[in-house]
Amino acid sequence: MRRCLPPPAVRAGRAALRHAEVPVPDRLYTPGPVEIPERILKALSRRPPHHRSEEFLSLFRDVSERVERVFGTNGRVVILAASGTGGMEAAAVSFARRDEPITALTAGKFGDRWIKILQAYGYAPEVVKAEWGEAIPPDSLASALKGRQGGCVFLTHSETSTATLHDVRALAAVAREHGAMVIADVITSLGVHELRQDDFGIDVAVAGSQKGLMLPPGLALVGLGPRAIAQLEERGPESPAFYLDLKRAAASAAQGDTPFTPAVSLVLALDEGIRMIEDVGLREVWRRHASIGLALRTGATAAGFTVFSKSPADSVTALVPPDGLDAGKVIKAVRAARHFMLAGGQDHLKGKIVRVGHMGLAYDVSDAVAVSDALEEAVLSLGATGVRGRAADGARSVIAAGAVRLAETIT
Ligand SMILES: *Cc1c(COP(=O)(O)O)cnc(C)c1O
Repeated sequence: MRRCLPPPAVRAGRAALRHAEVPVPDRLYTPGPVEIPERILKALSRRPPHHRSEEFLSLFRDVSERVERVFGTNGRVVILAASGTGGMEAAAVSFARRDEPITALTAGKFGDRWIKILQAYGYAPEVVKAEWGEAIPPDSLASALKGRQGGCVFLTHSETSTATLHDVRALAAVAREHGAMVIADVITSLGVHELRQDDFGIDVAVAGSQKGLMLPPGLALVGLGPRAIAQLEERGPESPAFYLDLKRAAASAAQGDTPFTPAVSLVLALDEGIRMIEDVGLREVWRRHASIGLALRTGATAAGFTVFSKSPADSVTALVPPDGLDAGKVIKAVRAARHFMLAGGQDHLKGKIVRVGHMGLAYDVSDAVAVSDALEEAVLSLGATGVRGRAADGARSVIAAGAVRLAETIT
């Protein structure tokens, strides 16, 4: 029998492959975008139906209702084609008023973003600050609001720049005592941390697609609680706004529709992302992130790192390298050795901290073992003192202890 060889071009291609370095894609451990699960990638490749077709509208109505359950609101979730910042801007322009008190809380880059957005529209918020790495105590908000009534309080649930979690429920309670509308950035807490919008007293909750919801970037989701909807029905934005006018968007959402063309493919992907969260169960999703966060903090600490935040979030972990090592060099070493992509610090924290993102169901506790081990290997190669193997053992000890039991973290 004649040997059947593949055509010459294929043979050449194989030979080239043998000699070329086959590129390995980085695994993303960044604070957004995150690794996208296969199921969502498949949904993204579907042929998009027309946005006015019955097929799409019925899916849109269904996914909107299910998203409302993930937010924990009896109100409505408005879905905008925008990055998360677009949702923040829509919230700011739709609720802030010049003749009412505006307070903005900041302990990091994303808290600062609320202030910048408000200033861009000519508002002058009163600012309540804490050091980066600290959470703003509810008492500080209480002092700032003394003698003030009504208006808005802008805050951040999980401050991604410092990997810090705020007690959003306590802060919202203080704001509500003063009759203020509570507007929260929940971009790295939705689908990660325990969050029940209405129960927590959050009137407006802004999320983005590329974090805990596991989608590519491109959607901003704005949860409007009953008080927020009532206010929008009464009055729209005082500043000029058109696409970002939430009064218009909320009126369409009430009809199960959008005022303009929605990002159809991302809505199909959102349907799948929400289904994944439903399959696992919201409480289990929160517990899972708590376990990853705890295992990573334990593992990295065993490798000599210090946890940067005094109130660590489970969406992102910020770590200070041992022995004064440059965080940028640690990140480079991890990428070269393992093809893990980590993030650095922003602004004055550049070179000072390593940030590891672990939002969404593409991650589990074994990622905490792998990343702690990679971090340990990197700092030892850069000259830190330590014993190889402690980091992975540390992270594994958390898993062996049954990780985080639901009752310990979720109320
Ligand atoms: C990612 C993020 C945002 C929004 O960022 P975009 O790049 O506009 O999507 C806002 N707030 C926090 C806390 C974030 O982590």
